[in-house]
Amino acid sequence: MLTLFIIIIIVNLELDKYQDYKEKILFGRYITNESISKLKKSYNFSIIGESSNNLPIFSLKRGSGSVKILIWSQMHGNESTSTKALFDCLSFFDKYERDIFSKVTLFVVPILNPDGALNYTRENINNVDLNRDAQSLSQLESYSLRHEYNQFNPDFCFNLHDQRTIYSVKGTKPSVLSFLSPSADIEKSETNSRKDSMRVIASINKKLSLIIPGNISRYKDDFNINCVGDTFQSLNTPTILFESGHIGQDYEREKTREYMCYALIQSIKSIVFKEFVKVNFKDYYLIPENTQHLCDIFLKNVNVIIDNKRSKICINIMFSEVLDIEKKEIKLEPYIDKYGDYSNMSGHLTLDFNTVKKCFDLSSSLVINELMVYVNELRIIQ
Ligand SMILES: [Zn+2]
Repeated sequence: MLTLFIIIIIVNLELDKYQDYKEKILFGRYITNESISKLKKSYNFSIIGESSNNLPIFSLKRGSGSVKILIWSQMHGNESTSTKALFDCLSFFDKYERDIFSKVTLFVVPILNPDGALNYTRENINNVDLNRDAQSLSQLESYSLRHEYNQFNPDFCFNLHDQRTIYSVKGTKPSVLSFLSPSADIEKSETNSRKDSMRVIASINKKLSLIIPGNISRYKDDFNINCVGDTFQSLNTPTILFESGHIGQDYEREKTREYMCYALIQSIKSIVFKEFVKVNFKDYYLIPENTQHLCDIFLKNVNVIIDNKRSKICINIMFSEVLDIEKKEIKLEPYIDKYGDYSNMSGHLTLDFNTVKKCFDLSSSLVINELMVYVNELRIIQ
């Protein structure tokens, strides 16, 4: 009984103290070089190279231990949640478990694509997806990462991303976090490095499942040598893809950030303290694959006119994320993604339009604004 009590305390330390160690300087979706520069008092940043539009690519090194982990985030510029979580994770170790830095060396590139971060785009300034550039290394950012990989010679790589709001687990539960042990070849072979990254994912999944049961998924492992993870895995470096997902109305992704921070802490511990070696790599396959059964706002029983005919249908509304450069904020602009009979879908907000008598003309350019008037009314009643 005493043992059980102690275990519960240990498991919850990272969660209970989160507000104490959270890096509060970073907030929201718009995280750029300017944002992380505000952390210069706490971190000694170096510069590993320049972006295609001449912005510095910052890095930082923590620890001096023999286990080496290379971590990069925001290779897709508008995927910032894991960057916030990464600084929370470093702050946790600094405050509560400094000793770990005698066992591990972390080489961190917090924003690999600073132009994309500044413009809030997935691609870099040349419209190149850096996660498809691992072989040709046509972009300065890709070259910098590869150069550091060669120099540092890591034991593990962490590749940090955000995933869209469409991703779900087993039906319509939101996928809050998802992971991938990338394939190392077209046959999706279970190579030694791949097995090790599967073991780490399986070991943290066990712990995460206590906190967000049913909200964890894994990505499809189709091989693409142009992806950075697949390339590093094929070079026998165990590589883990981390994806911050979405839940509820947390469009700033501050809650997901907390879960991702926990995942990062547990991954680093699992590697440093060799917890993962005890795990059966096949447990990785027990994590369900992502499904795509969610949208931002799901409307049921909407009266519409299509081709001069009245009918009752479902409408899936999605948000475009648009940068307001003046306010340095991301605005959500709704649009109709699809409509019809989507009874297998759900939304982060689901509303029944049964009580709405109005009949919406889907050919009108104003229809999204008209729908949103009722969405805002109904969500208050709900
Ligand atoms: Zn991404």
